[in-house]
Amino acid sequence: MLVGGSLWGKWVQTNLLKRKSFWEVKESSHIGSWIFRKMLKMRSVAKTFYMKAVGNERHTSFWYDKWTELGVMSDLLGDRGVMDLGIRREATVEEALCNNRRRKRHRRVLLNDIEKELEIIKAKQRADVKDVDLWRGNMRFKQKFSTHLTWQLTRAPGAQCTWSRGIWFSQTNPKFAFMAWLALRDRLTTMDRVSNWSQDVDTACVLCKNATETKKHIFFECSFSSRIWETITKGILLNIYSTSWDDIIRLITNQFMEKKKRFALRYAFQTALYMICTERNKRRHGEQPRPLLVLAKLIDKAIKNKLSLVQSKGVRGLEGILQYWFGTRM
Ligand SMILES: [Zn+2]
Repeated sequence: MLVGGSLWGKWVQTNLLKRKSFWEVKESSHIGSWIFRKMLKMRSVAKTFYMKAVGNERHTSFWYDKWTELGVMSDLLGDRGVMDLGIRREATVEEALCNNRRRKRHRRVLLNDIEKELEIIKAKQRADVKDVDLWRGNMRFKQKFSTHLTWQLTRAPGAQCTWSRGIWFSQTNPKFAFMAWLALRDRLTTMDRVSNWSQDVDTACVLCKNATETKKHIFFECSFSSRIWETITKGILLNIYSTSWDDIIRLITNQFMEKKKRFALRYAFQTALYMICTERNKRRHGEQPRPLLVLAKLIDKAIKNKLSLVQSKGVRGLEGILQYWFGTRM
C-alpha cells in the first residue's frame, strides 16, 4: 500500500502517518477512514508477509520494520528496548549502524543476539543499493507482491473457498477488493451486528430508512442501493440479473462467464460495494446524503476510469472493454 508509490499511499503517508511508521500508529487511533482503521487492525496478519532486504538501510525503520529473521524489534523488546539499546524510536537501521556506535555487552541474551545481527547487517550494508521491500511467497520472500498468492497463504489450509477468485483477480483495486473481502467474511459492521454487542443503537438502514441494516439488505435488497445496482449491472446481466447477495456471489465467481463480461461485473460489484459502504458511513456520521443519481454516476465514472486503464494496458482478452461497457448501458 505505502511502498507501491500509489497516490493514495502517498496521501496516507503525508496526512495520516506524518513522520510515523504504519506499524507504529496505535490501533485505538481515530485517524483516517473506516477502511484505514480496519487495515490497522489487520497489521498483525500483514506483518508476517512483509520484510525489508539489506541495502543502504536509509529507509528502513530500526524499530518497526522487519529487517532481520529475529523479528520486529519493537515486538521483541517493547518500550524498554529503546533504553537498553540506546537507539531512538525514529531511528533508521542506517542510523543504528552509524560509525561511532560500539558493540555493547548486555545481560539479556536476546540483546546480544541483536548486537550480533547488527554486525552482520553492517558487513552487508551497501551505500549504493536501495532497501528493497519483500513479500512472502510460498518458500521465501520475493520482490513481487501477488494478491492471489497472499490470499492463498492467509486462508486456513484445506478450507475450500469458492468466492476468492471473484474478489482477488488481476487488475483489481486492492482497496475495493479488501472491502469486498470483509463483506464476504461477514466482517462489515452493519447495524444488525452492532446491536449484538451494543444496546440502544438505531438499526435502521440509513439509505432507505425502511428496514433493519443487514449485509444482505444493503447489498442489494435496499430500495436505494438496488436502484444503483440495477443502473450499473442490469445491462450486463440481462435475464440473469439479481439483487440477491447469494445470487450475485455465484455470478461473480462463475469462471465460465465471457472474460469481458466477467471482469466488468466483478469490478462493478467491488466499486458499488465500496462506494455504497462509504456513503452509508458518511450518513451515519451525519454528513449530507448524496442523491442516488450522483452516487450512481460516481460509480459509473470510477468503473470507466478503470476499464480505460485496463484497455490502454492491452490486457489479453479485455481488448475493447470500454466499448463493451458502453454497449451495456441502458
Ligand atoms: Zn435500505
